[in-house]
Amino acid sequence: MDIRSLNKEELTAELLSMGEKKFRAGQIFRWLHRDLADSFAEMTNLSLALREKLSEKFSLEVPQAVQVLTSQIDGTKKFLFDLADGNVIESVWMRYHHGNSVCISSQVGCRMGCAFCASTLDGLVRGLTPAEMLGQVYQIQKLTGERVDSVVVMGSGEPLDNYDSLVRFIRLLTDPEGQDLSGRAITVSTCGLVPQMYRLADEGLSITLALSLHASCDETRVRLMPVAKRYKLDEVLAACDNYFEKTGRRVSYEYSLVHGVNDTLAEAKALAGLLGGRNCHVNLIPVNPIKERNFTRGPREETLAFKNMLEKYGINATIRREMGRDIDGACGQLRRSYMEKGSEERRR
Ligand code: SAH
Repeated sequence: MDIRSLNKEELTAELLSMGEKKFRAGQIFRWLHRDLADSFAEMTNLSLALREKLSEKFSLEVPQAVQVLTSQIDGTKKFLFDLADGNVIESVWMRYHHGNSVCISSQVGCRMGCAFCASTLDGLVRGLTPAEMLGQVYQIQKLTGERVDSVVVMGSGEPLDNYDSLVRFIRLLTDPEGQDLSGRAITVSTCGLVPQMYRLADEGLSITLALSLHASCDETRVRLMPVAKRYKLDEVLAACDNYFEKTGRRVSYEYSLVHGVNDTLAEAKALAGLLGGRNCHVNLIPVNPIKERNFTRGPREETLAFKNMLEKYGINATIRREMGRDIDGACGQLRRSYMEKGSEERRR
């Protein structure tokens, strides 16, 4: 049993069933989620006998950083973590004026198949456990020696395709006896899995939802995102509106600009028409080209003109600032190049 994935009630029940007092569960919870202990041996206010019993009954696996790249331009760091079963995942640490932000993966690979995305090229391997999602945040905090102020679930994987683990991860990360992160400091990005978006609105979490929109009509959206065949734009936007109504949290819309596909001024106008009247924010992301596909980004002036057009129609928009340009490549590419190298070495 993976002890860092248990919530407080489950941990308490386990400790009671071992004949231990209830307060021990609180002590262990704080070791795991506040003090970020990586082993039972560190839990020095527990008896040696109890620590031994715990290590027999539970596993406490910590993602191991196997590669860390640091940007010479802005200090952004990319981490490759090795998981207990040998899978590798990618996370990014960014320093902004408002604090440190970590972008985590929610799955190994992804099965959503978005056309421009490197994470989905080999399909889904598996969802991450709550402990593996927390482990990315906790290890980065330990390795940088700086507090993580916000977390975005925008790395590899579709978080709402790993729903139960995601919600458990958020509850653990916001627990007052753990890192006590505010829900407002967490953003979850989805390609638009409608039923889970409705479920998430009712969880009582005050996190921000970001929707990957990428088009203003279903026809174009389907070209970029196979999931658009299953859920039409009007259903997805209704789920966003419901999220706002239930939580009071403004929804963000992500729009990756792919040259010649969705980046004309006519598209900008159509997007403004689609979102008009909503309290929202559009994040424009000039597409990061991946070598497996031939999508490119348009000239900078066109990106600016796209943004200006949205603003002219009263839609709040920003162009995503590129962090760690020198260590970049799109999300998921660092992992791919590491894996490719690995398999060559294995063949040799
Ligand atoms: N599965 C989630 C998280 C994906 S990554 C989702 O779909 O929202 C976060 C954002 O980056 C998504 O909007 C995704 O579509 C976008 N993205 C992925 N690869 C990209 C690339 N190569 N260039 C630009 N944006 C990309």
